[in-house]
Amino acid sequence: MKMHKPSSITSALSQESPLFSVEFFPPKDDAGGRRMLETAEAIRPYSPNFVSITYGAGGGTRETTMRYARILQDEYNFEVMPHLTCVGHTVNELLEILEDFAKAGFRNVMALRGDPPQGEDVFKATEGGLSYGSDLVELIRENFPDFGIGVGGYPEKHPEAKDNIIDLANLKTKVDAGADFITTQLFFDNQAYFDFVKSCKDSGIDIPVLPGLLPVLSLGQVRRFCKMCEASLPTSLEKKLTQADDENHPTIGAEWAAGQINELLQGGAPGYHIYALNKPQSTLQILQSLGIEKTAA
Ligand SMILES: Cc1cc2nc3c(=O)[nH]c(=O)nc-3n(C[C@H](O)[C@H](O)[C@H](O)COP(=O)(O)OP(=O)(O)OC[C@H]3O[C@@H](n4cnc5c(N)ncnc54)[C@H](O)[C@@H]3O)c2cc1C
Repeated sequence: MKMHKPSSITSALSQESPLFSVEFFPPKDDAGGRRMLETAEAIRPYSPNFVSITYGAGGGTRETTMRYARILQDEYNFEVMPHLTCVGHTVNELLEILEDFAKAGFRNVMALRGDPPQGEDVFKATEGGLSYGSDLVELIRENFPDFGIGVGGYPEKHPEAKDNIIDLANLKTKVDAGADFITTQLFFDNQAYFDFVKSCKDSGIDIPVLPGLLPVLSLGQVRRFCKMCEASLPTSLEKKLTQADDENHPTIGAEWAAGQINELLQGGAPGYHIYALNKPQSTLQILQSLGIEKTAA
């Protein structure tokens, strides 16, 4: 593999001070767009190292990801990492999208296979398209050698993988294809992250593993997400939520996430990535509880 320049994100990941990043998703309509941008406005003073915006997940389109990624970069001055998935695209289309990303000024991309489209159980590569996240990493590294490339990692195993060993071997293929860092799927039990990082190291995966944290908003939501991602829901978190009134669930969720982050950083995590779900309150509560100060107007 050719050597490539470090991107802003890979440089930030190699610094002593922990990185923090926030993930948005492309809104479905103008009202959702306004909510997303209000969230961006609320978070901006805390100067996250980067923000990311998902692609395709939950019905978003190529155009909305691009449109809002540009707004976040050009109007809010964030370092933006758009996501890209293989779903429904030929290689030529993927190259066109990547070219558009490069022209718009993005220098980092989160490379994913993506989930099967709604109504389908099994992922099938589009004719002339790609089958795995590792294929997309290879395509990007070959054609856009200086892009920083993030990939997904699964502390509690990707739901489709037969076992952890196979999943890790597949992750190693993705890393060897040229990924710069891994962002994890959500998890609520830090031991899952620490065990995953150790297994990565033991398998020869030595790129940073950025933990992804979801501040819980409600008991129903966390049960749904845990089922979908096959993540475990710690009994103590479930109990706290069950015993509290619904309106207190977001506060409990943010406290739990802040507690996770403190322990993760003490345990050597290179930073933290917050799945903000286009809502500001929980992310702000986490940042305040971690003592992060505003550094921009
Ligand atoms: C941080 C993060 C961000 C995400 N953002 C988005 C988003 O923006 N849009 C979206 O639609 N989804 C997103 N997802 C969800 C993701 O698309 C799904 O989890 C998807 O099912 C897997 O994508 P992947 O790139 O990790 O797949 P892959 O790395 O391709 O892995 C998928 C499955 O195939 C297996 N596998 C991999 N390579 C091989 C091989 N060579 N042979 C056999 N099996 C193999 C793996 O073990 C795994 O079970 C995100 C996930 C994470 C963790």
